[in-house]
Amino acid sequence: MRIKCWGSRGSLSVCGPEYQKYGGDTTCLEIRSRQDDVIIVDAGTGIRRLGNALMREGKKQVHFLFTHAHWDHLIGFPFFKPLYHESSEIFMHRCPFGNNFVETMLSKVMTPPYFPIRYNDIKAKIHYDDACPLEFTVGPVAISPIPLSHPNRGSGYRFMENGRSMVFLTDNELGYRHEGGMAFDDYVQFCRNTDLLIHDAEYTPDDYVQTRGWGHSCYTDVVDLAIRANVRQLGLFHVNQDRSDPDMDAIVDQCRQILKANNRDIDCFGVESNREFNL
Ligand SMILES: [Zn+2]
Ligand SMILES: [Zn+2]
Repeated sequence: MRIKCWGSRGSLSVCGPEYQKYGGDTTCLEIRSRQDDVIIVDAGTGIRRLGNALMREGKKQVHFLFTHAHWDHLIGFPFFKPLYHESSEIFMHRCPFGNNFVETMLSKVMTPPYFPIRYNDIKAKIHYDDACPLEFTVGPVAISPIPLSHPNRGSGYRFMENGRSMVFLTDNELGYRHEGGMAFDDYVQFCRNTDLLIHDAEYTPDDYVQTRGWGHSCYTDVVDLAIRANVRQLGLFHVNQDRSDPDMDAIVDQCRQILKANNRDIDCFGVESNREFNL
């Protein structure tokens, strides 16, 4: 399984010299199975560059999963160029809300007067599949969902192929249980022994005095989760829109120090745009 991050910025896309390392695009992950199936998680602004890359490659079939409906995870969708080609084929796996929520959610992004092209005018062939809450597969990749602790709910996922796994939990607040969310121990169980955990680590302990209940995690809780779940690699995600590169580097340093103090050999880093993983 190969994974590429096309955007890790939280809440709002940003640009400027202070954001060069971690990047300015909002959430979009690409997962490639060993059979070259393409699974896209979320359509933040990073999906624009992914769409362009898929067009260059001539890749016609893609699978979509969404974590939730907040703007920063959807707003790039109309700029995904394969939508406007009849030869494109899109498989929508209806997570996390089931029924026809994916269509409803995307129709709201693509509707005049907010956007000139309607969702129904997309040229690509779209297939729908009810996926959550049970485990499902895309080619050789087994995908398990878990409810997020986040305002308005959502879903995290574990991707498993060939005995290797990645858990993606963004917009998940470990220190506060939102409606529909799970307890800390449930997330520990879900992440147990995973090769790569990518988790929302938006806030510092100083921020968290003010931001508790806003739907994002304080990095100390994330490191605690990584230790208790015995993960191999920890990627810090959903970088706050006001967090400069040196500020984010400082968070990574703090997390590494906590890991070292606990004698844990977990590879910890901030997830930059364009970072790739080979599992
Ligand atoms: Zn978000
Ligand atoms: Zn959110």
